[in-house]
Amino acid sequence: MKIRVGLGFDVHPLEEGRELWLGGIKLPSTKGAVGHSDADVLIHAICDAILGAANLGDIGTHFANTDPRWAGMDSKYFLKEVTRMVAAKGWKIENVDCTVTLEAPKIKPHIEAMKQVLAPLMNITEEDVSIKATTNEKLGYVGRMEGVNAYAVALMSKAR
Ligand code: MG
Repeated sequence: MKIRVGLGFDVHPLEEGRELWLGGIKLPSTKGAVGHSDADVLIHAICDAILGAANLGDIGTHFANTDPRWAGMDSKYFLKEVTRMVAAKGWKIENVDCTVTLEAPKIKPHIEAMKQVLAPLMNITEEDVSIKATTNEKLGYVGRMEGVNAYAVALMSKAR
């Protein structure tokens, strides 16, 4: 068995009046993330972790933010596609672990809903999807609510 780990990181600015999509669901928030797609920072970090583990580049390689096809795109499509790409190379996703840094709203009440949405897109169980959240203790751009970050790692396996 071949085992590979991948790391993903993403950041998006926050603006008043935008929708906040995070982990495949829309959260109630006065501020939302700005980006070419739906700006789901958590899904983007997970995609990069999965692509990284398979050494298949990054999300920008496959879904360029200059491509009009991806304007306003639901990021769940990207995760499904990334899963398909690595599966085509023989990789099975074992688990993903993520941390979101956001000052508000609180993520915790929404974590179970996110897992329910994300796990099937990766062909894994909710037990294999860990999502954690922390504020940035009011420090820096996350602390000032100017942006949101997400970090993810993915472990994958493949028969030798
Ligand atoms: Mg992004």
